[in-house]
Amino acid sequence: MAAKTHTSITDIIVVGANGRMGRNIISLMENGQDFRLAGAVDTSEHLDKIKDLPCPVADNAAAILDQVQNAVLVDFTAPQASLKTARAAAEHGARLVIGTTGLDEPQKTELALLAEQTPILWSANMSIGVNVLLRFLPLLAEALGPDYDMEMLEVHHKRKKDAPSGTALMLGEALASARGWHLPDVRRSGRNGIIGERPQKEIGIMALRGGDVVGIHKCYFFGPGETIEIGHQAQSRENFAQGALRAARWLSRKEKGRLYSMGDVIENVLPK
Ligand code: NAD
Repeated sequence: MAAKTHTSITDIIVVGANGRMGRNIISLMENGQDFRLAGAVDTSEHLDKIKDLPCPVADNAAAILDQVQNAVLVDFTAPQASLKTARAAAEHGARLVIGTTGLDEPQKTELALLAEQTPILWSANMSIGVNVLLRFLPLLAEALGPDYDMEMLEVHHKRKKDAPSGTALMLGEALASARGWHLPDVRRSGRNGIIGERPQKEIGIMALRGGDVVGIHKCYFFGPGETIEIGHQAQSRENFAQGALRAARWLSRKEKGRLYSMGDVIENVLPK
Protein backbone atom coordinates (compact mmCIF):
# COMPACT_ATOMS: atom_id res chain seq x y z
CA MET A 1 0.00 0.00 0.00
CA ALA A 2 1.38 3.48 -0.85
CA ALA A 3 2.18 5.79 2.10
CA LYS A 4 -0.02 8.92 2.23
CA THR A 5 1.08 12.55 2.54
CA HIS A 6 -0.01 14.95 5.29
CA THR A 7 -1.29 18.49 5.77
CA SER A 8 -0.46 21.10 8.44
CA ILE A 9 -1.31 19.16 11.61
CA THR A 10 0.65 15.92 11.86
CA ASP A 11 -1.19 13.04 13.52
CA ILE A 12 1.03 10.95 15.77
CA ILE A 13 0.63 7.47 17.24
CA VAL A 14 2.97 7.10 20.21
CA VAL A 15 4.28 3.56 20.77
CA GLY A 16 5.70 3.15 24.27
CA ALA A 17 3.24 5.83 25.44
CA ASN A 18 3.74 5.07 29.13
CA GLY A 19 7.54 5.21 28.92
CA ARG A 20 9.82 8.12 29.80
CA MET A 21 10.14 9.21 26.16
CA GLY A 22 6.52 8.41 25.25
CA ARG A 23 5.21 10.60 28.07
CA ASN A 24 7.55 13.43 27.08
CA ILE A 25 6.37 13.33 23.48
CA ILE A 26 2.70 13.31 24.51
CA SER A 27 3.19 16.27 26.85
CA LEU A 28 5.01 18.26 24.11
CA MET A 29 2.11 17.62 21.74
CA GLU A 30 -0.40 18.75 24.38
CA ASN A 31 1.48 22.06 24.68
CA GLY A 32 1.73 22.77 20.95
CA GLN A 33 -0.54 23.07 17.94
CA ASP A 34 1.33 21.31 15.16
CA PHE A 35 0.68 17.73 16.27
CA ARG A 36 -2.35 15.70 17.33
CA LEU A 37 -2.24 12.52 19.41
CA ALA A 38 -4.02 10.01 17.18
CA GLY A 39 -3.24 6.82 19.09
CA ALA A 40 -1.25 5.41 21.99
CA VAL A 41 0.30 1.97 22.38
CA ASP A 42 1.96 0.23 25.32
CA THR A 43 2.13 -3.28 26.71
CA SER A 44 -1.09 -4.82 28.06
CA GLU A 45 0.10 -4.43 31.68
CA HIS A 46 0.50 -0.67 31.14
CA LEU A 47 -2.75 -0.07 29.28
CA ASP A 48 -4.62 1.16 32.36
CA LYS A 49 -2.00 3.94 32.72
CA ILE A 50 -2.73 5.29 29.22
CA LYS A 51 -6.45 4.50 28.96
CA ASP A 52 -7.48 8.09 29.79
CA LEU A 53 -5.56 9.63 26.89
CA PRO A 54 -7.87 11.37 24.36
CA CYS A 55 -7.23 8.84 21.58
CA PRO A 56 -7.59 5.13 20.78
CA VAL A 57 -5.23 2.96 22.86
CA ALA A 58 -4.05 -0.60 22.24
CA ASP A 59 -1.30 -3.04 23.18
CA ASN A 60 0.04 -3.21 19.63
CA ALA A 61 0.51 -0.81 16.74
CA ALA A 62 -1.40 -2.94 14.19
CA ALA A 63 -4.61 -2.62 16.24
CA ILE A 64 -4.38 1.20 16.15
CA LEU A 65 -3.43 1.28 12.46
CA ASP A 66 -6.64 -0.66 11.71
CA GLN A 67 -8.58 2.32 13.19
CA VAL A 68 -6.42 5.38 12.34
CA GLN A 69 -5.22 6.46 8.90
CA ASN A 70 -2.53 8.96 7.87
CA ALA A 71 -0.75 9.09 11.23
CA VAL A 72 3.00 8.82 11.80
CA LEU A 73 4.03 6.21 14.38
CA VAL A 74 6.69 7.35 16.87
CA ASP A 75 8.21 4.39 18.69
CA PHE A 76 10.49 4.58 21.74
CA THR A 77 10.24 1.09 23.27
CA ALA A 78 12.72 -1.81 23.07
CA PRO A 79 14.43 -3.46 20.05
CA GLN A 80 12.05 -6.40 19.54
CA ALA A 81 9.01 -4.20 20.13
CA SER A 82 10.21 -1.60 17.59
CA LEU A 83 10.72 -4.31 14.97
CA LYS A 84 7.17 -5.51 15.61
CA THR A 85 5.93 -1.94 15.11
CA ALA A 86 7.97 -1.68 11.90
CA ARG A 87 6.40 -4.86 10.50
CA ALA A 88 2.91 -3.50 11.29
CA ALA A 89 3.82 -0.14 9.68
CA ALA A 90 5.04 -1.88 6.52
CA GLU A 91 1.83 -3.94 6.32
CA HIS A 92 -0.35 -0.83 6.70
CA GLY A 93 1.80 1.54 4.58
CA ALA A 94 2.23 3.80 7.63
CA ARG A 95 5.18 6.08 8.30
CA LEU A 96 7.36 5.31 11.32
CA VAL A 97 9.98 7.13 13.41
CA ILE A 98 11.98 4.87 15.77
CA GLY A 99 14.18 6.18 18.58
CA THR A 100 14.85 2.87 20.32
CA THR A 101 18.51 2.03 20.89
CA GLY A 102 20.32 -1.29 21.28
CA LEU A 103 19.20 -2.79 17.95
CA ASP A 104 21.52 -5.61 16.81
CA GLU A 105 22.80 -6.01 13.25
CA PRO A 106 20.03 -8.45 12.08
CA GLN A 107 17.41 -6.04 13.47
CA LYS A 108 19.01 -3.08 11.63
CA THR A 109 19.10 -5.15 8.43
CA GLU A 110 15.40 -6.03 8.77
CA LEU A 111 14.56 -2.38 9.42
CA ALA A 112 16.38 -1.35 6.25
CA LEU A 113 14.37 -3.95 4.28
CA LEU A 114 11.07 -2.75 5.79
CA ALA A 115 12.06 0.83 4.89
CA GLU A 116 11.86 -0.22 1.25
CA GLN A 117 8.15 -0.90 1.83
CA THR A 118 7.17 2.17 3.88
CA PRO A 119 8.95 5.39 5.01
CA ILE A 120 10.95 4.66 8.20
CA LEU A 121 13.41 6.87 10.05
CA TRP A 122 15.59 5.45 12.82
CA SER A 123 18.02 7.39 14.94
CA ALA A 124 19.67 6.40 18.21
CA ASN A 125 19.74 10.10 19.07
CA MET A 126 17.06 12.54 17.97
CA SER A 127 18.80 15.64 19.35
CA ILE A 128 19.63 18.29 16.78
CA GLY A 129 22.84 19.13 18.70
CA VAL A 130 24.15 15.55 18.62
CA ASN A 131 23.38 15.22 14.93
CA VAL A 132 25.21 18.43 14.10
CA LEU A 133 28.13 17.18 16.25
CA LEU A 134 28.09 13.95 14.24
CA ARG A 135 28.70 15.93 11.07
CA PHE A 136 31.63 17.87 12.50
CA LEU A 137 33.49 15.08 14.34
CA PRO A 138 34.96 13.52 11.16
CA LEU A 139 36.26 16.97 10.12
CA LEU A 140 38.04 17.31 13.47
CA ALA A 141 39.44 13.78 13.25
CA GLU A 142 40.74 14.40 9.74
CA ALA A 143 42.15 17.84 10.50
CA LEU A 144 43.97 16.68 13.66
CA GLY A 145 45.36 13.55 12.01
CA PRO A 146 46.57 10.18 13.32
CA ASP A 147 48.79 11.59 16.11
CA TYR A 148 45.65 12.40 18.09
CA ASP A 149 44.22 9.45 20.05
CA MET A 150 40.41 9.39 20.04
CA GLU A 151 38.50 8.34 23.16
CA MET A 152 34.93 8.78 24.37
CA LEU A 153 33.01 8.87 27.62
CA GLU A 154 29.26 8.45 28.00
CA VAL A 155 27.18 8.89 31.17
CA HIS A 156 23.53 7.87 31.62
CA HIS A 157 20.91 7.21 34.30
CA LYS A 158 21.03 3.93 36.20
CA ARG A 159 17.98 2.42 34.48
CA LYS A 160 19.49 2.49 30.99
CA LYS A 161 19.56 -1.05 29.63
CA ASP A 162 22.23 -0.90 26.90
CA ALA A 163 25.92 0.08 26.97
CA PRO A 164 27.67 1.76 25.34
CA SER A 165 24.79 4.05 24.44
CA GLY A 166 23.47 4.10 20.88
CA THR A 167 24.68 7.70 20.64
CA ALA A 168 28.20 6.74 21.73
CA LEU A 169 28.26 4.09 19.01
CA MET A 170 27.07 6.63 16.40
CA LEU A 171 29.75 9.12 17.46
CA GLY A 172 32.33 6.32 17.58
CA GLU A 173 31.41 5.22 14.06
CA ALA A 174 31.85 8.80 12.82
CA LEU A 175 35.33 8.92 14.41
CA ALA A 176 36.33 5.47 13.15
CA SER A 177 35.18 6.05 9.58
CA ALA A 178 37.16 9.33 9.46
CA ARG A 179 40.30 7.16 9.91
CA GLY A 180 39.06 4.47 7.51
CA TRP A 181 38.46 2.06 10.42
CA HIS A 182 35.51 -0.21 11.23
CA LEU A 183 34.32 0.60 14.80
CA PRO A 184 33.76 -3.03 15.98
CA ASP A 185 37.42 -3.77 15.08
CA VAL A 186 38.86 -0.86 17.08
CA ARG A 187 36.41 -0.26 19.95
CA ARG A 188 37.63 -0.83 23.51
CA SER A 189 35.00 -0.61 26.24
CA GLY A 190 37.05 -1.36 29.35
CA ARG A 191 40.64 -1.36 30.60
CA ASN A 192 41.79 -3.33 33.60
CA GLY A 193 45.08 -4.78 34.83
CA ILE A 194 48.39 -4.78 32.96
CA ILE A 195 47.04 -3.75 29.60
CA GLY A 196 50.27 -2.43 28.02
CA GLU A 197 50.63 0.56 25.76
CA ARG A 198 47.52 1.88 24.02
CA PRO A 199 47.54 0.83 20.36
CA GLN A 200 47.20 3.72 17.93
CA LYS A 201 44.34 1.97 16.12
CA GLU A 202 41.90 2.00 19.02
CA ILE A 203 38.89 4.04 20.19
CA GLY A 204 38.00 3.73 23.85
CA ILE A 205 34.29 4.17 24.66
CA MET A 206 33.70 4.05 28.40
CA ALA A 207 30.25 4.00 30.04
CA LEU A 208 29.32 5.39 33.46
CA ARG A 209 25.84 4.77 34.96
CA GLY A 210 24.08 6.46 37.84
CA GLY A 211 21.26 8.61 39.19
CA ASP A 212 18.99 10.29 36.68
CA VAL A 213 21.58 11.61 34.18
CA VAL A 214 19.73 12.09 30.89
CA GLY A 215 22.82 11.79 28.70
CA ILE A 216 26.39 13.10 28.54
CA HIS A 217 28.75 12.31 25.66
CA LYS A 218 32.33 13.55 25.49
CA CYS A 219 34.82 12.97 22.69
CA TYR A 220 38.52 13.52 23.33
CA PHE A 221 41.39 13.98 20.90
CA PHE A 222 44.58 13.44 22.92
CA GLY A 223 47.50 14.89 20.96
CA PRO A 224 51.10 15.78 21.64
CA GLY A 225 50.95 18.39 24.40
CA GLU A 226 47.24 19.19 24.00
CA THR A 227 43.76 17.78 24.32
CA ILE A 228 40.66 18.77 22.38
CA GLU A 229 37.37 17.95 24.08
CA ILE A 230 33.99 18.26 22.43
CA GLY A 231 30.72 16.93 23.69
CA HIS A 232 27.02 17.16 24.30
CA GLN A 233 24.89 17.17 27.40
CA ALA A 234 21.14 16.67 27.42
CA GLN A 235 19.51 18.55 30.31
CA SER A 236 16.15 16.87 29.77
CA ARG A 237 14.44 14.40 27.44
CA GLU A 238 12.66 17.29 25.79
CA ASN A 239 15.32 17.74 23.11
CA PHE A 240 14.90 14.09 22.05
CA ALA A 241 11.10 14.47 22.06
CA GLN A 242 11.33 17.70 20.02
CA GLY A 243 13.66 15.99 17.56
CA ALA A 244 11.36 12.97 17.25
CA LEU A 245 8.37 15.20 16.43
CA ARG A 246 10.48 17.21 13.96
CA ALA A 247 11.51 13.90 12.37
CA ALA A 248 7.86 12.77 12.20
CA ARG A 249 6.84 15.97 10.44
CA TRP A 250 9.76 15.68 8.01
CA LEU A 251 8.94 12.01 7.34
CA SER A 252 5.27 12.80 6.72
CA ARG A 253 6.39 14.37 3.41
CA LYS A 254 8.83 11.64 2.39
CA GLU A 255 8.37 8.57 0.28
CA LYS A 256 9.67 5.08 1.03
CA GLY A 257 12.98 3.97 -0.44
CA ARG A 258 15.67 3.71 2.19
CA LEU A 259 16.04 3.89 5.95
CA TYR A 260 16.21 7.60 6.83
CA SER A 261 18.18 9.06 9.75
CA MET A 262 18.18 12.29 11.73
CA GLY A 263 21.12 13.34 9.55
CA ASP A 264 18.64 13.54 6.63
CA VAL A 265 16.34 15.78 8.70
CA ILE A 266 19.07 18.32 9.51
CA GLU A 267 20.63 18.22 6.02
CA ASN A 268 19.40 21.69 5.04
CA VAL A 269 20.62 23.45 8.21
CA LEU A 270 24.28 22.63 7.49
CA PRO A 271 26.70 24.57 5.29
CA LYS A 272 27.26 22.87 1.91
P1 NAD B 1 11.05 3.30 29.12
O1 NAD B 1 11.42 1.94 29.64
O2 NAD B 1 10.76 4.38 30.07
O3 NAD B 1 9.82 3.19 28.11
C1 NAD B 1 9.62 2.17 27.18
C2 NAD B 1 8.13 1.96 27.04
O4 NAD B 1 7.92 1.02 25.96
C3 NAD B 1 7.50 1.33 28.31
O5 NAD B 1 6.33 2.03 28.67
C4 NAD B 1 7.20 -0.10 27.88
O6 NAD B 1 6.08 -0.66 28.55
C5 NAD B 1 6.93 0.12 26.38
N1 NAD B 1 7.01 -1.13 25.63
C6 NAD B 1 7.92 -2.12 25.75
N2 NAD B 1 7.63 -3.13 24.89
C7 NAD B 1 6.52 -2.75 24.22
C8 NAD B 1 5.73 -3.36 23.23
N3 NAD B 1 6.00 -4.59 22.76
N4 NAD B 1 4.64 -2.69 22.76
C9 NAD B 1 4.32 -1.46 23.24
N5 NAD B 1 5.03 -0.84 24.21
C10 NAD B 1 6.12 -1.48 24.68
O7 NAD B 1 12.28 3.71 28.17
P2 NAD B 1 12.63 5.16 27.59
O8 NAD B 1 13.61 5.82 28.48
O9 NAD B 1 11.40 5.86 27.18
O10 NAD B 1 13.47 4.71 26.30
C11 NAD B 1 12.90 3.88 25.31
C12 NAD B 1 13.96 3.63 24.23
O11 NAD B 1 14.31 4.87 23.61
C13 NAD B 1 15.28 3.05 24.76
O12 NAD B 1 15.80 2.16 23.79
C14 NAD B 1 16.16 4.28 24.91
O13 NAD B 1 17.54 3.98 24.86
C15 NAD B 1 15.72 5.05 23.69
N6 NAD B 1 15.99 6.48 23.71
C16 NAD B 1 16.33 7.06 22.53
C17 NAD B 1 16.52 8.40 22.43
C18 NAD B 1 16.81 9.01 21.10
O14 NAD B 1 17.03 10.23 21.00
N7 NAD B 1 16.79 8.22 20.02
C19 NAD B 1 16.38 9.22 23.57
C20 NAD B 1 16.03 8.61 24.78
C21 NAD B 1 15.82 7.24 24.84
